[in-house]
Amino acid sequence: MSRGRYDLSRSEIAELLNGAPRYRVDQVWEGLYRDCSEPDQWTTLPTGLRAVLSEALPRSLVEVLRSVSDDGQTIKYLWELADGHRIETVLMLYPDRATVCVSSQAGCAMACSFCATGQAGFSRHLGVGEIVEQVALARRDAAAMSRRVSNIVFMGMGEPLANTEPVFEACRKIHDDLGISARSITVSTVGVVPGIRALAEFELPVNLAVSLHSADDSSRDPIVPINRRYPLDAVIGACQDYLRQRRRRVSFEWAMISGVNDRAEDAERLADLCRRLEPSAHVNLIPLNPTPGYATVGSALAVVRGFQRRLEDLGVNATIRRNRGTEIDAACGQLAAQAVTIGRRADTNRQTTSSTRPT
Ligand code: SAH
Repeated sequence: MSRGRYDLSRSEIAELLNGAPRYRVDQVWEGLYRDCSEPDQWTTLPTGLRAVLSEALPRSLVEVLRSVSDDGQTIKYLWELADGHRIETVLMLYPDRATVCVSSQAGCAMACSFCATGQAGFSRHLGVGEIVEQVALARRDAAAMSRRVSNIVFMGMGEPLANTEPVFEACRKIHDDLGISARSITVSTVGVVPGIRALAEFELPVNLAVSLHSADDSSRDPIVPINRRYPLDAVIGACQDYLRQRRRRVSFEWAMISGVNDRAEDAERLADLCRRLEPSAHVNLIPLNPTPGYATVGSALAVVRGFQRRLEDLGVNATIRRNRGTEIDAACGQLAAQAVTIGRRADTNRQTTSSTRPT
């Protein structure tokens, strides 16, 4: 994996500038982390230096395709990495916040049956610069729409807690260098127990979300295979320790799958698990998004609402995740890094533009 411009520390940039005065280092740093722009736009620098920096500070991500939906409020980026692997990032604009959903791996080894990324398999871990650059480039576009990125979710492709070191270092840079509050960063895991334990030790108070989807081992095993290695008791135990150390509420994600995890007894078992955490976990219900490799359908919206009410009656807070970008395959579990999806829904909302290499 080659090092890109967001892999370099401030002192490495100073070294690159080879004894240039400190204000030059500041100008480059601001170009990267405040403006998130290209070296040829750093007009405070002499033209010759800009050209040198364009070479010396390579991009890690080349835009292959961007798809837009929800009236321009959701943008999905398909990027190509230097070695040809492809990943995706989603920028979601809401009235009160702007969230970037980042990928932590090219592909994913967890093989959850209902997730398009899991269906495609694992290619490789992402490096720090590849993760941070996703945020920087989304932030650049948000700024062009007079919006500021406020939240980061590690809910794109990959299992962030199977790639802890780069993910933690990326969180540090997103916090320290891009200035996004750690409390506005959420790391989502399928339940990798050593990763949850490492997160509890991590110095920044980022949020933890656990993709549960089932509250008993026999029905979780087939849909979330890593459950065989880290069964529910171990996952809940790690969450309890995390809470003891961090005192931050954990949230559980639950994709609503018809007949699989949407019955009254599923809500009851889930509520029991939530109550083993103090304060009780918050549940995020996700209407199942269609993926090519999973035939079972999602629960009807009325069922999702009923499930939510049941949880509330049992004293557990639950929200239904607003679905973004389903028609451009940008919603939860749909990221497969494919430029073309054949035979999908009508293209009425789809507005796709391809673009060339950045200058
Ligand atoms: N690997 C991490 C990060 C991915 S987050 C994790 O599993 O948490 C993506 C979220 O979308 C996870 O909660 C995942 O379980 C969920 N998801 C996957 N496929 C989905 C689908 N088809 N519909 C709805 N949610 C899905």
